[in-house]
Amino acid sequence: MDKRRILILGGATEARDLAARLARRTDLAVTLSLAGRTLDPAPQPVPVRSGGFGGAEGLAAYLRGETIDLLIDATHPFARQISANAGIASKAAGIPLLRLERLGWEETDGDRWTRVTSIAEAVTALGGEPRRVFLAIGRQEAKAFDAAPQHHYLVRSVDPVDPPLDAPDVEYLLARGPFAVEAEVALLRDRRIDVIVSKNSGGDATYGKIVAARILSLPVLLVERAAAGDGHRAGTVEEALRLADHLLGAFRKRGV
Ligand code: NAP
Repeated sequence: MDKRRILILGGATEARDLAARLARRTDLAVTLSLAGRTLDPAPQPVPVRSGGFGGAEGLAAYLRGETIDLLIDATHPFARQISANAGIASKAAGIPLLRLERLGWEETDGDRWTRVTSIAEAVTALGGEPRRVFLAIGRQEAKAFDAAPQHHYLVRSVDPVDPPLDAPDVEYLLARGPFAVEAEVALLRDRRIDVIVSKNSGGDATYGKIVAARILSLPVLLVERAAAGDGHRAGTVEEALRLADHLLGAFRKRGV
């Protein structure tokens, strides 16, 4: 029997977990696609292709060329362009699309969150008075904070921020999660941080800073996700596995 072919668009932790679960299946051929931004990517349990496709059209051409049966978008909740491309390309190629997106964090007692809808809004929400800011949003959008050069920034990212910020008072910290709560508390105390900027990424790996902020009673500017698109969605790897089988089954029936 021909193997059913799945392309997973990766970038979030769940993509790797899902790939590992699907890799055990002898009836499936799974490829993981990475943007290729991380200089030292983690090893993956299935074959990997790396780098952009050249927009939605390029992705559609890849899906057709590789005769992919199911596209799974397991990119980061804040990677918006590739998710939009996945929607367009799956329609163009006539195959089902499954979105795996972990749930966001929920505010709880002791949290001091201000929710914003964009990085630009977070920059403004820091206010005019100089503050000591922990920027835990990754490297790609850190440059936006040049617009508020009065603050001190502690910028943490997996790879270096390049080019660096123009703001004059910036410390860079290279680190890859997961981050333990105790270490986050120690970091925030040591650097005398008085506000944190974070995306509402959800998951455990980067939740430590949110708990640490609660312990230290520090405010958090939390950038929320864009509204979810329609289509097949899973919040967990387990749910994605079930839906993937369902979609592959439905697609086969339609195809014969
Ligand atoms: P993006 O703005 O949505 O994507 C920009 C372009 O990068 C896409 O149009 C596509 O290029 C390429 N691309 C993105 N993901 C890809 C994948 N899995 N395979 C092949 N090409 C991909 O994404 P981003 O915010 O720059 O994030 C880049 C990657 O880092 C994503 O895989 C994402 O999951 C991961 N990530 C993002 C964040 C975040 O906060 N944004 C955090 C952690 C990890 P083409 O148009 O040429 O195909």
